[in-house]
Amino acid sequence: MGIFSLAQNVVSGSAGIISGSLDLHSSLTDLQAFGGMAGSGFSAYVGSTYLATDDDLTQADLHYTELETDYEISNSVQFTHDPYELAAFLTAVYGDFTYDDVQDVLNQIFEQQTAESKTFTEVISGMMTDDQYGVYELLLYSKGNRQYIASPFDFNWQSDISSYYGYRVSPITGAKELHNGIDIPVPVGTDVHSGIDGVVSDTGWNDNYGNYIIIDNSDGISVKYEHCDEILAAVGQKVKSGEVVAKSGDSGADTTGAHLHMEAKENGKYINPLYFTLNGGN
Ligand SMILES: [Zn+2]
Repeated sequence: MGIFSLAQNVVSGSAGIISGSLDLHSSLTDLQAFGGMAGSGFSAYVGSTYLATDDDLTQADLHYTELETDYEISNSVQFTHDPYELAAFLTAVYGDFTYDDVQDVLNQIFEQQTAESKTFTEVISGMMTDDQYGVYELLLYSKGNRQYIASPFDFNWQSDISSYYGYRVSPITGAKELHNGIDIPVPVGTDVHSGIDGVVSDTGWNDNYGNYIIIDNSDGISVKYEHCDEILAAVGQKVKSGEVVAKSGDSGADTTGAHLHMEAKENGKYINPLYFTLNGGN
């Protein structure tokens, strides 16, 4: 597979022509940045879009977080990885992979990490051809072009993330737990924007995760914000992407500091919000 499966998502020919069956939900800004390269006759295939399904991308990353968490609990040694690197590597090498396709290779990468005390980046760097590495770098730049959820904040929060989606050692209980979203530390009272055009399907209070709001759209996407200070939209209300729907906070018992916990579901199933959410500009 590899590079050939990426050929369906190429930027080729004259500048600005994007061919293939791209299913882009968001802007093409990242792709267009490469228009000059394509226009000058650069002949390499440019694959800047994730090819696996949202669920397979989510499950592959989730699997890796479980390997890391189990190891941390058994050995008191913590390994972490960048989810964007994992998705870029798998896409560059395996194209439109399924979770089943890549479980073994993920296990092997982690074994090598622990056996040789290497980072995820170090191990995968030695596993790609030059062409694959080119695609990998492009995917790190584009973040996969699958970001159909707008940013919850009007600033770039990518480097602020304090906890990723996936398994982790709970900061509250110290036990293994599945963290169903991402945590972004922000001061109490920060404007929280809806990530989608949709309808507020639920708001309320939960003892663990405080004031929350859930917004659903007609494509089966659901976005939830927790630990809010204030909810500013009512159940049944239609909201636009970008509209302020809450003020962030530190509410509920399961928090160790002011932050927004953001979750996303697709047809009722959790997806890793990191892959599908714009991060407030690059
Ligand atoms: Zn959280």
